[in-house]
Amino acid sequence: MKVLLLGGTGEARRLADLLVAQDIEVVSSLAGRTANARLPVGAVRQGGFGGVEGLVRWLEDERVDAVVDATHPFAATMTSHAAEAAARTGVPLLVLRRPGWESPSGDSSNKWYSVDSAAAAAELVPQLGSRVFLTIGRQGLDAFARTGLWTLARCVDAPDPAPSWCTLLLARGPFAVDDELELLREHRIDVLVTKDSGGDMTAAKLTAAERLGVPVIVIRRPPLPPGVDAVESLDQVVGWLTARR
Ligand code: NAP
Repeated sequence: MKVLLLGGTGEARRLADLLVAQDIEVVSSLAGRTANARLPVGAVRQGGFGGVEGLVRWLEDERVDAVVDATHPFAATMTSHAAEAAARTGVPLLVLRRPGWESPSGDSSNKWYSVDSAAAAAELVPQLGSRVFLTIGRQGLDAFARTGLWTLARCVDAPDPAPSWCTLLLARGPFAVDDELELLREHRIDVLVTKDSGGDMTAAKLTAAERLGVPVIVIRRPPLPPGVDAVESLDQVVGWLTARR
């Protein structure tokens, strides 16, 4: 059985470990845009496929038996291409999506705001604070330039060109609550903007913000393409693949 594993996440790397250990032939695919990306075990290919057409060709040429989409919840283009290519080729597809975040205490009271886009978050932010911590990655940063507010933007890789209107902090998770508390205090952050990435690696900022009474704006995930099967755990993916062996 040959599996194409669309990756770029910690879950995809852990899934590659599990599949290789079970002698399932897996090819992990990375977009190839992150400098010094941590590579999964097993075979790896890097770079785009060339849209849906390219992915269809790749699935056929490589005689792929199943596709697992373990990309980041905000990698919506890749997920929609995978859904379309799977439908066209008849190759079974399963999407692995980690659960989204909720307010750490379960009490979001009036400090937790969900919005649909970076633009909507940028509209809201001046009503909530004046010293902003942006943790939305490189994409979507520009929407916040016009707020004119002091902004600390944390990214894994530097945006190119580097924005002049904000202070950049280059760092890769996992982050600990104590460090996040220190960072928020040091920069006197009074509003946090994030996207609903989910997972433990970068969730500490939410606990830190809640402890300090800092409001949080969360950008909602893009929806999955209609009709696509999705699960939340690695075990469910392994079970789904094993049943197809
Ligand atoms: P995207 O907007 O959904 O995809 C843009 C294009 O990049 C796709 O059309 C595809 O090119 C290529 N691509 C994306 N993921 C790929 C993969 N795993 N293997 C091969 N090609 C891929 O994706 P994105 O949001 O820029 O994310 C790029 C990668 O970074 C993803 O693998 C994702 O898992 C990871 N990542 C994203 C985020 C995020 O916040 N978006 C955060 C952490 C990690 P073609 O059309 O040419 O095939």
